[in-house]
Amino acid sequence: MTDIIETNLPTSAAVSPGSRVVPRRKRLTGFHDLPFDELKERLVEMGAPAYRAQQMFDWAYGKLVTSYDEMTNVPAPIREGFGETTPLQTMKLVRELVTDNGDTYKLLYQTFDGQLVETVLMLYPDRATVCVSCQVGCAVECAFCATGLGGLTRNLTAGEIVQQTVDATRRARQLDRQLTNLVMMGMGEPLQNYAETMKFINIIHDPRGLNFGARRITISTSGIIPRIDALADEPYQVNLAVSLHAPNDELRSRLVPINGRYPVEDLLAACDRFTQKTGRRISFEYALMNGINNSDEIARELGQLLRGRLCHVNVIPFNPVDVLKFERPNAEMIERFAEIVREYGIPTTVRYSRGVEIAAACGQLRARHQQMEKAAS
Ligand code: SF4
Repeated sequence: MTDIIETNLPTSAAVSPGSRVVPRRKRLTGFHDLPFDELKERLVEMGAPAYRAQQMFDWAYGKLVTSYDEMTNVPAPIREGFGETTPLQTMKLVRELVTDNGDTYKLLYQTFDGQLVETVLMLYPDRATVCVSCQVGCAVECAFCATGLGGLTRNLTAGEIVQQTVDATRRARQLDRQLTNLVMMGMGEPLQNYAETMKFINIIHDPRGLNFGARRITISTSGIIPRIDALADEPYQVNLAVSLHAPNDELRSRLVPINGRYPVEDLLAACDRFTQKTGRRISFEYALMNGINNSDEIARELGQLLRGRLCHVNVIPFNPVDVLKFERPNAEMIERFAEIVREYGIPTTVRYSRGVEIAAACGQLRARHQQMEKAAS
């Protein structure tokens, strides 16, 4: 058991949890929503020279400042103009949990319209990875996921995803580390928020800004086939992780309902097209749940299904969720399952997700915070 350091940060009265002070369909454009060229256009419209865009990008993505006031070489009227219309940060940090001896940071944000969003920063000896969210809730409604329980509330904007990344970069830097990897495995299905996901990648990938390499980004999907095909045609060399969780339609449809629309055979055909087009190996994610999808027979079926494919399997022992009945298998069962899959020549890794003590499983921190706020009101 490791120490957990928990900080509840004051929330603004204007955006108290649960209250929607702004109708949720309205959107707020923040600085992080602006690709470089759009920022330049805005500046020129204000009568400012175009080179101010690079100065503002340097402050926002190089020095990682948190207010326009810190952009000291940008004239005050420009800073004030942006401050009034385009906030530098549109989300507030409302809760922070630290565990795994200071190696895992779980952050809970509140958006301008009172929604709660989770981000996790994980420090390893050789890398620092941020797991960002792309939606509030999720429409896929996987049977084992706390995020999916309440359905989808709304998509996050590119800027809201960028802010999670910028904040994690700053936090890593404060800890004398460099953010090296990014996974879109938090709340939401990135391929159901495709336009904002692509815009987000475009912004963080821009060498004039954060310059975050696409090869260090992994998009995780429950298997939205048309978007997997679209992703293969994008210019970004991002990695793809597919949440498989079962080797056949009968079981997978129970765990990942969208399988009814995009069944296993069609999904794997799309994965094959992706690897053929991009030459990139796919990771298949497999949340292992005791008595559900961890028998020897299922492991063999999975091995047969994936044999010969350019792929890797990540076996993720299930994180218990308060409100759901699924359980994690014991260590021996977990290793046995992975070993059977390996017998089919498939590279297989067991990955324990970080921060189990702090409700790191997708959507749990948000759910607990909502319960606490309800109890306190
Ligand atoms: S596991 Fe992912 S895709 Fe499934 S409901 Fe949760 S967030 Fe959505």
